[in-house]
Amino acid sequence: MTTALVWFRNDLRVQDNPALAMAVKNHSHVLPVYIHDQHTGDWNDGAASDWWRHHSLAALSKELEACGSGFLIYQGDAATVLDSLIKGNGITHVYWNRRYEPDAIARDRAIKTSLRDKGIEVQSFNGSLLIEPWAHLKKDETPYRVFTPFWKALQPRLPSRPLVQLPEQLPPVPDSLSPAAISLDDLHLLPELDWDEAFYTHWTPGSEGAERQLQQFCDEAITDYLEGRDIPSITATSRLSPHLHFGEISPQQVWETVSQYIHQGSRPGLLKGGEGFLRELAWREFSYHLLYHFPDTPTQPLNPRFSAFEWRSDYSEDLHRWQTGTTGIPIIDAGMRELWHTGWMHNRVRMLVASFLTKNLLIPWQEGARWFWDTLVDADLANNTQGWQWTAGSGADAAPYFRIFNPVTQGERFDPQGLYVRRWVPEIASLDNKFIHQPWQSGSPPADYPAPMVDLKATRERALERWQEIRNEQAS
Ligand code: FAD
Repeated sequence: MTTALVWFRNDLRVQDNPALAMAVKNHSHVLPVYIHDQHTGDWNDGAASDWWRHHSLAALSKELEACGSGFLIYQGDAATVLDSLIKGNGITHVYWNRRYEPDAIARDRAIKTSLRDKGIEVQSFNGSLLIEPWAHLKKDETPYRVFTPFWKALQPRLPSRPLVQLPEQLPPVPDSLSPAAISLDDLHLLPELDWDEAFYTHWTPGSEGAERQLQQFCDEAITDYLEGRDIPSITATSRLSPHLHFGEISPQQVWETVSQYIHQGSRPGLLKGGEGFLRELAWREFSYHLLYHFPDTPTQPLNPRFSAFEWRSDYSEDLHRWQTGTTGIPIIDAGMRELWHTGWMHNRVRMLVASFLTKNLLIPWQEGARWFWDTLVDADLANNTQGWQWTAGSGADAAPYFRIFNPVTQGERFDPQGLYVRRWVPEIASLDNKFIHQPWQSGSPPADYPAPMVDLKATRERALERWQEIRNEQAS
């Protein structure tokens, strides 16, 4: 009779959970544990992630109880909490699924060494990626920095493992534990002020919500994914990003479900849409591999040439206007308001607001990444870093710096009737389609909507001049 502890982190699910499955297979007693540890570096969860985590932990707790187990919540330094749980409960084995953020890697390595030194068996697993970053390298054993070859070489290697099966009933958790667990509410993850009201109508955190979301996407949107994924006014993407970030569904589960769908169905567009979707899922993988191999990139440009880039330094007022969606550029304001109200923003619009911040306003991308970190329910160090560096032009396989999105023409192309903008910027909802993306061109722009904070053409030219400066420096 041995007792194992399963340390849950960003793998908040029962199904296809390799660490949990291994513990259940080998031990008569299994303690599923979550430790709220906010002592690891600069990237503790932001406010929107806290909201999601609260509900996700509640959902996992119910799921585990339904299987006859339980869920034990603790708070504090993870190493200390694990030590006292091991001592107090005769635990011999500890299992977890790996994380790939630099601070988490450092912490996990130290904990693994220290526990092994004390004679505890520790095993970690891949529960979050399609393939481990160290197992998918170029022929010369260096990491990929360009997506297309990464993706081409990845496809024949998938799926890299079968889905992990669990018995329907899990072993019960003993009644008295030392130290005693705390309640979810003791973590105080929900906001004190009521800014999260709309989140409840947009999201259902937890594995059940994730599976429903995936099913709905497969039934309703997958065939038109490639055409629809750029239109922000419609629900044409899966909206799985927060579920994947918190590990309520594994990328393997998504991969298997969509692959089966593609190969069993015959609806027109299924193959094209499904494959296009799996390619996007592989961008998540690419981002994680980049973060693993280039751990400084959450704060430093991957392309060292950008270290010399001259960003503006006195920008707090402009940053505030961008954050609050009051720039006077409709599609930018719509995106920033969607983010604030729902904790999510459409991918096309994420690119536009990021381009506007870094190129038209010349505000460092790190400021934007920080704001997203606090406000996105899917805030993810790998995807967020890659998304910001890609748009700023300093990342792997990045948009070339000189490709500066024009928010007016982008709006006219992807939101031609202004449906998205009208929803989020009601002040200008009555304008004709012709002016909806540039109200300043109408003879009488609405008085309660600001004039554009910058001239798009002049700021584009200024950005290109700054870019030329670092190119010249490089050449000289
Ligand atoms: P779908 O189109 O349905 O795609 C399915 C899944 O594939 C997503 O859930 C996501 O896990 C992955 N994916 C899709 N597009 C990308 C991409 N470009 N890069 C990496 N993975 C992708 N995504 C996050 O999950 N967290 C972030 O913090 C984040 N920050 C971003 C910041 C910027 C500036 C940009 C441009 C993009 C960012 N993204 C981020 C990527 C992308 O916008 C979101 O993953 C996507 O909008 C989520 O919606 P979805 O689940 O409906 O995507």
